[in-house]
Amino acid sequence: MPQICPYSDRCGGCRYIERSYEEQLALKQAQMTELFKGIITPEPIVGMTASDCYGYRHKVQMAFSESRNGGNRASGNQRGDFRNGSKRGAGQRTVSCGNYEEESHTLVATPDCLINHPQANAVIEDVRKLCEKLKLPIYNEKTCRNGLRYVQVRVSHQTGDLMVILVTGEDVFPGQNNLVKELRKAHPEIKTIIHNTNGNRTSMVLTNRMKTIFGPGYINDEMLGKTFRISPGSFYQINPVQTEKLYNKATELLNSSLTDRVLDAYCGTGTIGLIASDNAKEVIGVELNAAAVADAKLNAGKNGVTNARFVKADASDYLVEKEPPDLVIMDPPRSGSTEKFLTALATAGPKRIVYISCGPDTQKRDIQYLAGFGYRPEVLIPYDLFPFTSHVETVILMSKILN
Ligand code: SAH
Repeated sequence: MPQICPYSDRCGGCRYIERSYEEQLALKQAQMTELFKGIITPEPIVGMTASDCYGYRHKVQMAFSESRNGGNRASGNQRGDFRNGSKRGAGQRTVSCGNYEEESHTLVATPDCLINHPQANAVIEDVRKLCEKLKLPIYNEKTCRNGLRYVQVRVSHQTGDLMVILVTGEDVFPGQNNLVKELRKAHPEIKTIIHNTNGNRTSMVLTNRMKTIFGPGYINDEMLGKTFRISPGSFYQINPVQTEKLYNKATELLNSSLTDRVLDAYCGTGTIGLIASDNAKEVIGVELNAAAVADAKLNAGKNGVTNARFVKADASDYLVEKEPPDLVIMDPPRSGSTEKFLTALATAGPKRIVYISCGPDTQKRDIQYLAGFGYRPEVLIPYDLFPFTSHVETVILMSKILN
C-alpha cells in the first residue's frame, strides 16, 4: 500500500494515490498500449521503485491566502484540521498555502505533500510562518495587490542548492527584506532568491518580471556528466532520477556519429542537445524562451562544448530554409508540435527523429502525421516521471523509410 496522503480527497493532484506503485505502472503501461494500438507496441514502462517514488518533485510551487477569525480559505479533508496556520483567537490572522482544488479557487493546504522534495516543502512552510510572524501582506485580487501570491522553490539534485521565487502582485513587497533575512538564516542551502511580479488574472504562476534579490539569480545542476544552469523562467525537468534515464535512452536511440548535424528542437536550457554533442558534428538547439536560450548558451560554455549553438526562434519557423539536419530530437510542450514544423521537418528529411513527449495524445497525432511522409515508429518507451499522477512521458524513435 502507498503511504496515505491526508489531502488526497481534496487536492486532486495525484489521481493514482490509492494504488500501489506496481499497479500505477501497470495501469500506465496498459494506457499506452491502448493509445498506440495499431501503430506501435510500447516497451515496458521505466519506473522508479516503490520505495524511492516519493519526494521526487524538484520544483514545487504553492499559492498563498489569509483569513481572520478562523474563516480560512484553505480547506482540507474530514480526517483532521486541514489548515496549516496555527489556531488563533478572534481577530487573529492565519496564513495558508497549498494547491488550488481542481477546477476551483479553493486552496487546499498541502504542507508535507508526499511527492514534493522535503526541503522545498520545509522552505515554503517557513515562508508561511514568517508571513504570520512578520505580518507580511498576502495577495488578494480585490483588497491587497502588493502581497505574496505564490512561492516557488527549485532544488538542485546534485548540489542540494535551492532557488526561491517570491511572487507578489506588485513590484513593491513590504517586509521583503526581513523575510529574506530570516529565511536565509533558517535555510543556508538557499543560494538565490528572486522576486517575480505577477498581478495578472490568469493561472500562470510566473511572469517575465524577475528581479534577483539575493545570490546569482540561478542554481546549477548536473545530469549525465554535464552541468546545467537553471534560471527561474527556464524549463527543467522536475524528476532528475527519471530524466537521466530518459535522456540517456533518447541519445542512445538517436545513435549519432561524429559526422551528423543534430537539431534539438524545443531545447529548453540545451540539456539533451549538449548531452548529444559528444557524438555529433554539430548541434543546433531551437527554443522560444529567451531565458532558456541564454542558459543553453552559457551551459555550452560551462561544459566546454564548442560544437553546439542555440537559436531563439519558434521551432515551426526555424526549419524552413535552414540547412537540413541529419538527425532530430524534439521535445515539445504538452500541446505537441505543429503541422508547419512537422511538414518542414519531413521536407528536411532527417534519417531519424527522436520524439520525447509529456503529452502522448498529441505525440500520437504528430507521429501519425509524420507517417504520411514516410517516417515509421520503431521504438516506443514510456517513462514514469510523475508517480501517483496520471501523467506519462514517452520517447519514440522514428526512422525514414528508404525507397
Ligand atoms: N528539451 C528541454 C525542454 C522541453 S520543454 C528539456 O528537456 O529540458 C518544452 C520547451 O519548448 C520549453 O522550453 C518551451 O519554452 C519550448 N517551446 C514551446 N513552444 C515552442 C516553440 N513554438 N518553438 C520553440 N520552443 C518552444
